Amino acid sequence: MDLSHFVSSVTPSATLEFNKKALELARSGEDVVKFTAGEPDFPTPRPIVDAAIKALNEGKTKYTNAAGIDELRKAIALKLQKENNMTYSPEEIVVANGGKQAIYNVLKALVNVGDEVIIISPAWVSYEAQILLCGGVPVIVQADVERDFIPEINEIESSITDKTKAIMINSPNNPTGAIYPESFLGELADLCIKEDLFVISDEVYEKLVFDGSHLSIASMDGMKERSAVINAFSKTYAMTGWRVGYSATSTKLAKEISKIQSHLASNVNTMAQYAALKAFEVDTSSMVEEFRKRRDLVVSRLSEIGLKFSKPAGAFYVFIDIRPYLGRRYVNSNEFALGLLEEQKVGMVPGSAFSCEGFIRMSYSSSVEELKKGIDRFGRFLKAI
Ligand code: PLP
Repeated sequence: MDLSHFVSSVTPSATLEFNKKALELARSGEDVVKFTAGEPDFPTPRPIVDAAIKALNEGKTKYTNAAGIDELRKAIALKLQKENNMTYSPEEIVVANGGKQAIYNVLKALVNVGDEVIIISPAWVSYEAQILLCGGVPVIVQADVERDFIPEINEIESSITDKTKAIMINSPNNPTGAIYPESFLGELADLCIKEDLFVISDEVYEKLVFDGSHLSIASMDGMKERSAVINAFSKTYAMTGWRVGYSATSTKLAKEISKIQSHLASNVNTMAQYAALKAFEVDTSSMVEEFRKRRDLVVSRLSEIGLKFSKPAGAFYVFIDIRPYLGRRYVNSNEFALGLLEEQKVGMVPGSAFSCEGFIRMSYSSSVEELKKGIDRFGRFLKAI
């Protein structure tokens, strides 16, 4: 039988695959150091868990408005006003099953078959797949390690065609940790207005900032109507398994997104929404400080080994240039990552998963002891190549 071409054009998430491989090896009794995870290694803060239990005990176990409970949408609108200086009404917020579904909802609402969507490589694994699932065409613009993975506005401009509908950006960035400066965002906003393009701004790492500060492109003049802000509780509040994220858009787009959400999933798990509501009262600065310490440790250890990378300003990843090590025992990042896992029992995700060959992503969402152990092993692996 001929199955959907949209789906057959997509491969499974490589980060989840490598994480699974590392877990399987660990389960078989091997001492694996896992630097594959895309989630904080901290537990969900207790008040958030308690809020979910309270919601259950109070019988909040039924369907809600598909776009999310009113209290949560109001709290998100308030957060966007207070922290990001952006005015959204609660009706413009649609709560989704994680940032991942929030992005898909927006793409589905925007993209017609054949529309081009620009993504910046290195790019989070699911952008390309989700564009393809919507029948769109991903157009990749490369950002270079030499420029700290900040894309060149000219290169974005020259990739625009009459089919270009939107551009996806992600700052703080997974996998590079780059934070886009105001100057770049301003240039991009001007370009989008000039070319009548839409921006999907993935801000799920917004709170994990060590150098500089986060700015949403949607807060810039003339950008609200042509932007979708994506955010989630997953990374900020160590709530990856709860599956709560959201989009903030114009009213017109939010109405379309609500339709998609209602037909695909109805509402997000009801008690998880109450838990997310509580999250706004939780201070996560100690988690951010811990990530900063680990970032500093990782940066200094990797530099000692002589590796090239851009110092991450946010998130909890470092994207390491392994090109000098390719061409001998390993020809590409996938083989390299498999070799590292098999020989030294260290799990990292190949750059190919981020549309960027020649690199490997290390997540530093691990204890200091694990980081030291894993980097020592990584150093031994490199020496043996
Ligand atoms: N966007 C980026 C850049 C991510 O790294 C992730 C998760 O890894 C997501 C979105 C999705 O987050 P969520 O778990 O909230 O769906």
